[in-house]
Amino acid sequence: MKKIAVLGITGSIGISTIEVVRKHPNDFKIVLASANSNYSKLFEFATEFNIPELVITNSAFKQKITDIPKGSNLSFGENELQEKIVSIDSDIILNAISGSAGLRSSITAITKGTDLALANKESLIMAGHKIMNMLKDSNSNLIPVDSEHSAILQAIGDSSADEIRSIIITASGGPFRELPLNEFENITLEDTLKHPTWDMGAKITIDSATMMNKGLEVIEAHWLFQKSFKDIKAVIHPQSIVHSFVEFIDGSILAQLSFPTMQIPILYALTHPYHIKSTIPKTNILDLPDLNFAELSIERYPLYEIAINAGIEGGILPTVLNASNEAAIDLFLDKKISFNFINKIVEKQINSFHNFKNPSIEEIIKVNKDVFIQTTKNYKKLI
Ligand code: NDP
Ligand code: MG
Repeated sequence: MKKIAVLGITGSIGISTIEVVRKHPNDFKIVLASANSNYSKLFEFATEFNIPELVITNSAFKQKITDIPKGSNLSFGENELQEKIVSIDSDIILNAISGSAGLRSSITAITKGTDLALANKESLIMAGHKIMNMLKDSNSNLIPVDSEHSAILQAIGDSSADEIRSIIITASGGPFRELPLNEFENITLEDTLKHPTWDMGAKITIDSATMMNKGLEVIEAHWLFQKSFKDIKAVIHPQSIVHSFVEFIDGSILAQLSFPTMQIPILYALTHPYHIKSTIPKTNILDLPDLNFAELSIERYPLYEIAINAGIEGGILPTVLNASNEAAIDLFLDKKISFNFINKIVEKQINSFHNFKNPSIEEIIKVNKDVFIQTTKNYKKLI
């Protein structure tokens, strides 16, 4: 029985994790769970799974909550979450917090030396250089939850980085893959939130429509698999069946396939390096649709290239990329800007920022906050 901590249990990945745990009651026990504000869902899960430690990171809820599930201990606040991660007896921490808010928990898990199943790709975008270094001196293993990176990890197996010629990450293309470019100015929030193949949280769904998500995933792959940016590319694959490819130096290519469900990469992250028997619905090869692959158009998805260039530049720029993107997404969700302005805002913020190399975690957290606030405040000047 593996003891797991699930951070961000009320989100899309958190709920898929719950489905995995329901299917594997003898394999996993949730010992710590967090939400930011959705306490009713958190309490529902706490009651169903008898979760001993709960954290609500938004302290404002402290006054509102009176009824705590029996047998659970409840804490409030971001610092309290870090304390619980340190004090809890767990075998693996699954970080499914969305956005830059997930960084501190990843750092805490690695510093403690507990294995980290990482859905929160933003941790690696902002602090990949620090995290990869910290892992060298830690007992913690970092296992990706992102479906593409799970596929790459599985395809690589025991091969060394030298045996790999390139990594090819697949992208569904999102809801606007075929929309004429002159209609992009009419895109609505509702259109953007309808992803054709995956059901995910709002932020990553918007990132998938702009293709920022794929840019972030290239940076994530660069850190996880230690390949240079020129050896990682993304291709459009509308069916989301092949979750990525690894090309080896002898010309062989391996891929991992399944119907699009996050339950498979979540389960694998929790059982790595083993595959265990599961009742997750099977993928019947004969039921598969035709599989297509196409070049990713930079004209259609400018944020993909902006993200990769920020990744190549490194230093603090990926943090600026991420923070300005998070602010632009919030503005879009609040209907203050149109879809087309997301990339304009991010590009302007990146171009106006003076980069510096090897930022510390404290500098990353500060710049992230400053850029987010400044983008939110001054957005009218940026569009
Ligand atoms: P959701 O928005 O669905 O869920 C986010 C979770 O994080 C919720 O539990 C939320 O709590 C919590 N949360 C939100 N803000 C904060 C905060 N400031 N501090 C602490 N906790 C917070 O996101 P997803 O599940 O879609 O994504 C989670 C992560 O996984 C992201 O990094 C995403 O990129 C990555 N990922 C997601 C995939 C997917 O299929 N959804 C696929 C691959 C990667 P509350 O509900 O209370 O607001
Ligand atoms: Mg992904």
